[in-house]
Amino acid sequence: MFTNDTLKGRSALVTGGGSGLGLGIATAYAQLGANVMIVGRNEERLESAIEHLKKSGGSVASMKCDVRNYDEVKAAVEATVSRFGQLDIMVNNAAGNFICPTSELSPNGWRTVIDIDLNGTFYGCHAAYPHLQKSPFGGSIISIITMLGVTGWPQAAHASAAKGGILSLSRTLAVEWGADNIRVNTISPGPIGDTEGVKRMYIDVGRGEMEAQKTALGRFGKTIDIANAAVFLASGLGEYITGENLIVDGGRWLKQIAPSTLGAKA
Ligand code: NAP
Repeated sequence: MFTNDTLKGRSALVTGGGSGLGLGIATAYAQLGANVMIVGRNEERLESAIEHLKKSGGSVASMKCDVRNYDEVKAAVEATVSRFGQLDIMVNNAAGNFICPTSELSPNGWRTVIDIDLNGTFYGCHAAYPHLQKSPFGGSIISIITMLGVTGWPQAAHASAAKGGILSLSRTLAVEWGADNIRVNTISPGPIGDTEGVKRMYIDVGRGEMEAQKTALGRFGKTIDIANAAVFLASGLGEYITGENLIVDGGRWLKQIAPSTLGAKA
């Protein structure tokens, strides 16, 4: 779909790049010519991700970083710039979540998810800003959310509030930082069948088919679907797009609000 030099000369930092969608995005970026730094808390996971990424070509590096700590995020941004000379693409992908009825959710549980998802994303945007301003391509920030942050997410109020907050933050920054030629977008994945979370929550407990049928397309997405969206938004192909929330969910959220009345299949 893209040519091998679609991201040539660009440098990217992907939080939570050691697994799942973050690793998928990092892999696609490296394959298409970008230099890529991945960060996360678990060093073993990062090391095995780097082994995988090295096969994609491109220049790759990793660093331990907890996105709840602003100093660590800033250090990761600076390490990216010192290793690759610049930062052009910031992907805020790291997240944590657990299912819990809100009446039973402890303030600490609430704070932890808000800290990783919302505060971590703000830290990423804030630390990256002075470097993205200098990008010869124009800076690009991409944050991974979910439409459950827009519709509400019963039993995950913490994650829902965080993802909704990231959407609002991103739209705010799109306007504030547009004059700096920094584009700020979000991607809303639907259920992605080859990720651990979807395997654990749906497939392994026998709910796979039912959850797949909640999408308009009747199937789960793949990690590459999200990676392709993240390439598009980060590249020159998306250079007039900012403040956008690119929904890559097989029509899942729409089907929730517009169910078909024509037949059992829908
Ligand atoms: P995942 O495999 O669990 O990846 C999450 C990553 O975030 C891990 O690599 C983890 O690494 C990192 N992380 C967690 N807490 C961190 C912290 N405090 N500091 C730094 N890194 C941290 O999950 P995923 O399914 O790929 O999800 C990726 C993103 O897509 C998330 O934003 C998620 O909300 C969103 N999403 C996913 C789906 C889906 O179907 N999978 C659907 C909608 C939205 P460490 O544990 O090593 O830190």
